[in-house]
Amino acid sequence: MTFTDFNLDESILAAVNEAGFKEPSPVQKEAIPLILQGQDIIAQAQTGTGKTAAFGLPMMSIMQGNNGVEGLVIVPTRELAMQVSDELYRFGRHKGLRTATVYGGTAYNKQIERIKHASIVIATPGRLQDLLRSGKITLNPAFVVLDEADEMLDMGFLDEIKDIFTYLPESRQTLMFSATMPAAIRRLAEEILREPATVSITKKESTNTAITQYYYVVQEYERDDALIRLIDFKIPNKCIVFCRTKKEVDRLATHLNAQGFNVGGLHGDMEQRQREIAIRAFKQGGIDIFVATDVAARGLDVNDVTHVFNYHIPFDSESYVHRIGRTGRGGKTGEAITLVTPDELRTLKRIEKDVGTKILNETVPTRNDVQLNRTDGLIAEIAETEISPDAIELVKTLQHQLDIVTIAHLLASKLLVTQEIKGKDKIGFDASEIETMIRRAMQQRGNERGRGNYRGGQRRKSHRPKQRRHY
Ligand code: ADP
Ligand code: MG
Repeated sequence: MTFTDFNLDESILAAVNEAGFKEPSPVQKEAIPLILQGQDIIAQAQTGTGKTAAFGLPMMSIMQGNNGVEGLVIVPTRELAMQVSDELYRFGRHKGLRTATVYGGTAYNKQIERIKHASIVIATPGRLQDLLRSGKITLNPAFVVLDEADEMLDMGFLDEIKDIFTYLPESRQTLMFSATMPAAIRRLAEEILREPATVSITKKESTNTAITQYYYVVQEYERDDALIRLIDFKIPNKCIVFCRTKKEVDRLATHLNAQGFNVGGLHGDMEQRQREIAIRAFKQGGIDIFVATDVAARGLDVNDVTHVFNYHIPFDSESYVHRIGRTGRGGKTGEAITLVTPDELRTLKRIEKDVGTKILNETVPTRNDVQLNRTDGLIAEIAETEISPDAIELVKTLQHQLDIVTIAHLLASKLLVTQEIKGKDKIGFDASEIETMIRRAMQQRGNERGRGNYRGGQRRKSHRPKQRRHY
């Protein structure tokens, strides 16, 4: 199946081709025909599966252009507003469909001015409610989209959203998109949608199989060492490291910087401008490692993120899904790596069950593993290197005094000198140790069912085997 099988507008189709999209994703296959037929829909599909185009392409196909604001897209964060705006603009520009973004923290006037010339408004709930309530703008869109609806409810925007709908026309097509479908979302859907069709990409399809998921069991104090060792071993192109708190983001970013990595931090307390600068640097490659909190990185769509690290495991499975969805995007593969302490194994198992995919256990590579890996890489690199005239001259000169094998050894030593690997050799627990721990944790879970997690955690401590040292 290709995009030409849908009844999309010619100019939209041209833009899809330019974007290099070949085959529609599962959610696009199901949602696009329904939206073209004029249906309200509620669609559930994992992050990174192309939901923006799923609503954007049919909506923009139907739009007229030059006809005021025809589409309103409500998104949880400023970053997402910009991102969705970029993506929609890209698809709609041949048709002359302009986009305007609306979010807090910037001047009203400019935004209002841009809305006047736009066909599609992409807005965060707070500022949009402001504008509508104060009468600064009125909107009469034919399409209203709630994008990342679960995120918006998580962020406490339910009241704003309900209020916003009181300012919108009754006769409209409403589209709701969400990565997860908790009860609160279903209730909201009943209120704002009219006889919606449900698009639910089953777990198996919707689990982004392009993402391989691993976990590593370490002691609390080993997190930094394990993270650095894994970065050294996996050699990510770009990666995001998720932390729980702003403080941890700052500390870890500083620490990684000191280790010589190109690191940027991202959290909710940063000023909007700073955040934009950081995100741009990450997109353009000036920063390779982004240390971020959940909220700050919601929905972030950066190409070529090869690895997502959970420095701490998130508590709920929905955050886990959102976090790992930052990699494996747009048909590329990715790895999601979670560090857990023995105490956190139960959380991991719960998430694994909720998400419905296997999270594979691995042991943190030793120094030797990293060395071997690098040697392999180096050998491949050497094999691909072209011999330069200067190199031939250099070897000729060296040959006056040294034999060829010695020269080779000297050059190789010089290459390897910068490659010292830091940290102790063995970090964390190995497979058989982890197996025992899981068994114990699952047993305990049986015994403690119904009791608070926290107390369970406290009690377990006294049963735990003495800490092993591996020097
Ligand atoms: P979601 O909203 O489900 O998280 P996005 O709409 O942000 O996903 O899409 C993720 C990435 O995949 C974007 O970079 C987008 O351009 C790309 N993409 C979307 N649909 C396709 C497709 N059919 N083929 C290739 N890439 C796609
Ligand atoms: Mg999206």
